[in-house]
Amino acid sequence: MSGEHFDVVVVGGGTAGAAAAHRLSEDADRRVLVLEAGPDFPDEITNPPSFLTGGNSLGHNFAGIGAPTPDTDWDYWSEPLADGRRLHHRRAKMAGGSSMVNGTIAVRAAPLDFDRWREHGAPNWGWNDVKPYIEKVETMTPVRRVAPEHWSPIAQMFVESFKELGYSWVDDMNAPDAWDGIVGQWPLNRKNSVRQGTLVTYIREARQRPNFEIRGYCLTDRVLIEDSRAVGVRYIDAEGRARDVGADLVLLAGGAYGTPTVLLRSGIGPADELAALDIETRVNLPVGHNMVEHPQCLFYATGPPELADMTLPGWPVAARAEGNGWWSFPLALDEDSGLCAYTFALTEDTGDGSLALSSSDPSAAPRIDHRMQDVIESNRFDHAHATFRELMNTASVTSRGVSDPEAGRPLREILQERMGTAFHPAGGCQIGRVVDDELCVHGVDGLRVADASVFPVHILNNPCLTCMMLGERVADFIKAAN
Ligand SMILES: Cc1cc2nc3c(=O)[nH]c(=O)nc-3n(C[C@H](O)[C@H](O)[C@H](O)COP(=O)(O)OP(=O)(O)OC[C@H]3O[C@@H](n4cnc5c(N)ncnc54)[C@H](O)[C@@H]3O)c2cc1C
Repeated sequence: MSGEHFDVVVVGGGTAGAAAAHRLSEDADRRVLVLEAGPDFPDEITNPPSFLTGGNSLGHNFAGIGAPTPDTDWDYWSEPLADGRRLHHRRAKMAGGSSMVNGTIAVRAAPLDFDRWREHGAPNWGWNDVKPYIEKVETMTPVRRVAPEHWSPIAQMFVESFKELGYSWVDDMNAPDAWDGIVGQWPLNRKNSVRQGTLVTYIREARQRPNFEIRGYCLTDRVLIEDSRAVGVRYIDAEGRARDVGADLVLLAGGAYGTPTVLLRSGIGPADELAALDIETRVNLPVGHNMVEHPQCLFYATGPPELADMTLPGWPVAARAEGNGWWSFPLALDEDSGLCAYTFALTEDTGDGSLALSSSDPSAAPRIDHRMQDVIESNRFDHAHATFRELMNTASVTSRGVSDPEAGRPLREILQERMGTAFHPAGGCQIGRVVDDELCVHGVDGLRVADASVFPVHILNNPCLTCMMLGERVADFIKAAN
């Protein structure tokens, strides 16, 4: 390909993409270009954007307070549920990606998560293979815990009530065995109140290097492929012009919704779906299939207004019951009415979510269906809800004048009204099905993927650190191959 050329073009300067681009540009001879669809913030040190410190002390409030601006979110919505309600599938569109808008819960995936990855077609992804990369991530993004004297009133009550039910206290929820029947301090990646996502860690360091470049407002349309080899990408620049850039290697890191759309527009995906959109099939692969999410629902608790005090960190603590398929954390929602919630998220959904293009136009939103209606109609939340009811009867709760304002209401009704997701989409380009063990796309040379879309199955908890780990590891695969 003639014209502009880089050694590596990274599509998506988000969580995994930024980590990979940082490591790849450590070698001064390797020229790395990152194309990011959303804005970049090159002067973030001297002119910090408000989202750096924003969001209910520790992240966005799930009730919608501190919602992202339209400029920095893809504004994707689910296919309608049975009653027509659509779920907002929030996903950051900016340098740093979802690591810069998330709840800053910096949990490691568990060793047993990677046992499951190995069982699901990723033999090279056991705990011993990934642990050094998780440790590398933690040298870049500081992880801390909030001391009990700084917990919010709802967090204090949350811990006491779980202890009363027999949950064991753990100081470190990143300990390999801290998964079942425990309550403890959630690790958080915030420092000086600033989110330690990849914009202020990996990208901040890498942008000092002359061989690293990141371009904001550059939406990748598709991968350019010649003779079964990726030779570059076509993208739409900030002025709306289509541009081609050549690359020895294209690394897709657009996230669980972004990467499948780029692959599908490039003719890599299910042949029947591509034919319906008049896209020529280059490789017939199950792109966009078997997506996974963590369904999540808020169960309300109301008490005196001071229970919902939001001046202190909202969710420094959490409880886990991996054996029963959920984790939980507290939320303050309204300081006037004292409305709070015990949020319960499921470790697994049905595992057959899907993403499909609605059009070959790169600006069109894809059709996303995580099959959440199936979750609502299943019994998957039963144990979590029964536990919540028990918690509401503990002395730690009743002695504070706190109660469940929806006691007696059928669980299905609550789920239908407000169950959502934890904003953890993954899969769609799974290791073993779409990419190989070193994250190379089957059937196309010079094309790799590193982001949440490659998860073979979901992990039991929040995925941000695991996505950074993927970025770290793919960089080593690429370095070893060159
Ligand atoms: C509101 C919210 C709260 C969350 N809370 C937590 C939490 O507390 N802890 C946790 O561990 N996880 C949390 N998560 C999830 C976690 O942040 C994500 O799973 C993780 O950051 C995803 O990383 P990624 O690299 O796969 O994608 P992203 O970080 O989303 O990066 C993808 C990047 O690619 C860009 N892109 C996409 N398509 C294109 C294209 N065609 N051209 C150019 N660029 C493109 C996007 O704009 C984005 O910047 C949360 C997520 C959200 C949204």
